[in-house]
Amino acid sequence: MTMELKPLFGKVALLGIGLIGSSMAHAMRRADLAAHIAGYARNPETLEAAKRIGFADTLHETPEAAVRDADFVVLATPIGVFGELARQIAPHLKPGAIVSDVGSVKTAVVRDVAPHIPAGVHFVPAHPIAGTEQSGPDAGFAELFDGRWCVLTPPEGTDAQAIQTVKSFWRRCGSEVEIMDAKHHDIVLGITSHIPHLIAYNIVGTAADLETVTQSEVIKFSAGGFRDFTRIAASDPTMWRDVFLNNREAVLEVLGRFNEDLSLLQRAVRDGNGQMLFDLFTRTRAIRRSIVDIGQDSAAPNFGRDRSDGQEK
Ligand code: NAP
Repeated sequence: MTMELKPLFGKVALLGIGLIGSSMAHAMRRADLAAHIAGYARNPETLEAAKRIGFADTLHETPEAAVRDADFVVLATPIGVFGELARQIAPHLKPGAIVSDVGSVKTAVVRDVAPHIPAGVHFVPAHPIAGTEQSGPDAGFAELFDGRWCVLTPPEGTDAQAIQTVKSFWRRCGSEVEIMDAKHHDIVLGITSHIPHLIAYNIVGTAADLETVTQSEVIKFSAGGFRDFTRIAASDPTMWRDVFLNNREAVLEVLGRFNEDLSLLQRAVRDGNGQMLFDLFTRTRAIRRSIVDIGQDSAAPNFGRDRSDGQEK
């Protein structure tokens, strides 16, 4: 279907070629989105792995070199580095180029990146809501974004044509696109992604510290629910540290609500209030079903995540 379309861009520069950056390169190849894909990473081993896999046309040791003559530049490192990267590449950006990102937080990214974008260059922040607990250039695959949402949060006054181009880009990578205010994005993702990760990190940490339960028992009996938390809690520590450092306000707001609701549940358990527990669990089961119904997850056992390479689809 996309075969007849011309490449959207001459040159695309991916600053960061881990799970998301490399998946974008694979998806771009699949849909013929760029005549040239340039990649940048810090570590020689990462560049070496990217060369072996072959998802980029050229690989660069500096971001400045990667962005030269690029029509589309994507920041795909951990969020904490975005501001510095934007400062470094600013003088080297081609007039008319579009700068975007894939960061899981948007308000802080706009705050850190927008001031460095030169006049005549467009900035269209984006967040593909797709991922696995894997990281690095070997983890990427072309189908990662298929059927997933990508949220764009262009600041007011962003060039309409640039927004349209980024929209087309993500559609041709397989995603559906929604436009949202950055602050609203951070609250929505706070509840749907950031707090669940915080809870998973916490529960796995608590289990590891419980003195009356041995480590081997935790592993042996993990199918009782714990295993799904360990998958989330295996997510990249640097990426998730940066998410919580950069979405502090929204996370604390949602966490406040979460703590209040947890206290109510604690009281229901203490009081033996079976009706309250049953009503809540009935409501939450319906939410799970509606997520499966709209195709954002699978009803298969273990959520269909039993791929031999460990990657979630
Ligand atoms: P990843 O697999 O760990 O890859 C990170 C990439 O950034 C690597 O190429 C790494 O290269 C580079 N990098 C790391 N630190 C750097 C630094 N200080 N300076 C320059 N380059 C650096 O991470 P990822 O999962 O692709 O995540 C990348 C971005 O996507 C993050 O901003 C995250 O918020 C966002 N995101 C992630 C997911 C997800 O589920 N993983 C989903 C949506 C959005 P080296 O090996 O050379 O360090």
